[in-house]
Amino acid sequence: MLRIGCHLSSAGGFLNMAETAASIGASTFQFFTRNPRGGAAKTWKPEDVQAMLDYFEKADIATPLAHAPYTLNACAKDENIRKFALETMEDDLRRLETVPGTMYNFHPGSHVGQGSETGIVLIADLLNRVLREDMHTPVLLETMAGKGSEVGRSFEELRAIIDRVELSDKLGVCLDTCHVWDGGYDIVEDLDGVIGEFDSVVGLDRLRAVHLNDSVNPRESRKDRHEKIGRGQIGLDAFRRIVTHPALRDLPFYLETPNELEGYQAEIALLRGIAE
Ligand code: FE
Ligand code: FE
Ligand code: ZN
Repeated sequence: MLRIGCHLSSAGGFLNMAETAASIGASTFQFFTRNPRGGAAKTWKPEDVQAMLDYFEKADIATPLAHAPYTLNACAKDENIRKFALETMEDDLRRLETVPGTMYNFHPGSHVGQGSETGIVLIADLLNRVLREDMHTPVLLETMAGKGSEVGRSFEELRAIIDRVELSDKLGVCLDTCHVWDGGYDIVEDLDGVIGEFDSVVGLDRLRAVHLNDSVNPRESRKDRHEKIGRGQIGLDAFRRIVTHPALRDLPFYLETPNELEGYQAEIALLRGIAE
């Protein structure tokens, strides 16, 4: 059975997210650890987390994905921005230890003219400072579209980051379908080839999650504009192959398409239908 959900607002707390997920036919969900533009995190109430975990068993929900704020840039040129990234990630990961079964996803960063090699070194440095031996939350590097100076467009860049991290057993990858398409990988005509390339460069054992988004733009556009499933350049046939692919079908899928809850509910039903 497809494990699929969508991005949800965390404004109502943890149990509320789980109930909302169940109400739209989702079996997982994604949420921001704090305001996506950054800023202070709300306190997480232990009784709310526990109520969510109890609800998970009843409703067959699993692997919520916590998304770091977009403003987090581990390879910024400005030292203060890097410090914010370090402190935010440290705080997020400390608090996520209280939410068992959750994974943490972040955008590796933008090197802002310093070059991707410097970017890779800075991202790995940050990870080496925040990861601890006793942490349970997998930390996922998201594949990026390559917009501006984003690091992580290519599988090789993700591999280079992982190779520099001491506790790399804590690291995984979240593959975003819009991003890899915009980044140049042909998941429409050659999904097997792309997956084979990911396996040889990064290793499929690192792949822990998939962001399911269609793209407004053609392949290699490096734009990162998400579209509703089947309405963009990737198209429904490709999504059927993605959600049924033997290397992907057992992973959790998260929609980040431009939708309100009703639209997400329809997309989840659509994808469940074509995955049969
Ligand atoms: Fe993201
Ligand atoms: Fe994404
Ligand atoms: Zn995106």
